[in-house]
Amino acid sequence: MTAGALQGRTALVTGGSRGIGAAISKALARAGAAVALNYRQRAGEAAALVDAIAKADGRAIAVEADVSQTDAVAKMVERVKSELGPIDILINNAGIAITRGIDDLSEANFDQTIAINLKSVFLCTQAVLPMMRAGKWGRIVNISSGAARGAGAIGPHYNASKAGVEGLTRGYAARLVKEGITVNAVAPSLIETDMMQGQQDLVSRIPLGRFGKAEEVAQAVMMLLDNPYMTGQTVAMSGGMAFN
Ligand code: NAP
Repeated sequence: MTAGALQGRTALVTGGSRGIGAAISKALARAGAAVALNYRQRAGEAAALVDAIAKADGRAIAVEADVSQTDAVAKMVERVKSELGPIDILINNAGIAITRGIDDLSEANFDQTIAINLKSVFLCTQAVLPMMRAGKWGRIVNISSGAARGAGAIGPHYNASKAGVEGLTRGYAARLVKEGITVNAVAPSLIETDMMQGQQDLVSRIPLGRFGKAEEVAQAVMMLLDNPYMTGQTVAMSGGMAFN
């Protein structure tokens, strides 16, 4: 995407303070969008990223919210609208990965994973849609995972949450295409972030021989934002591990 291509647009990136979300936030700001980067706990990292974007002549704010909570999502979206304007790009990226074997997986682990990884996508999408519809333009990109289709390294609760994300992606895409709104997913596998700390042994599974970079995921997201004809799709990236 060319510099300035998103001038005048407002983007919300959930979990935009570090890892994949931070790389996406930076790419959006470079393309000219005003970026709201959401976080849940680590305010310091969110503030540092806002500063870094400002130093590079971008515009960003940090917004604290637990995206699995309806009220918190409503407040977050209102704040972004009043400080940056109506949201026309939503990146549903916030997620957790609680590694569990089948015998250790608890109901609490399952519920928390579904709430943060899947229900949040529904809550945030519903909250921003009225703004996108009013502007007759919108881009939603959901961060899925290779685990939506493959075995993955986390557990069945994580597989289920990400398969659900892809279901929401197609369900919304089909219903919004006539309103100028595209909804797509990016499904990365094994990207070097905090989430993958201590999992270095997994590199041996990747034919390319290294973890992916958050910036490489951001590249795929930016490609989807640029394409009005592409909707309801999942772009997978896994260093040659799996093919859709
Ligand atoms: P990460 O480094 O652990 O960062 C997670 C981000 O999500 C942080 O900004 C965190 O905020 C935020 N977050 C977590 N729970 C939240 C909540 N309830 N409400 C709001 N924000 C919340 O993760 P990552 O590796 O960048 O992963 C980003 C996305 O990519 C996730 O959906 C993940 O499932 C997916 N993914 C990752 C990989 C991988 O290999 N890394 C592979 C496939 C898919 P705080 O900093 O405040 O905690």
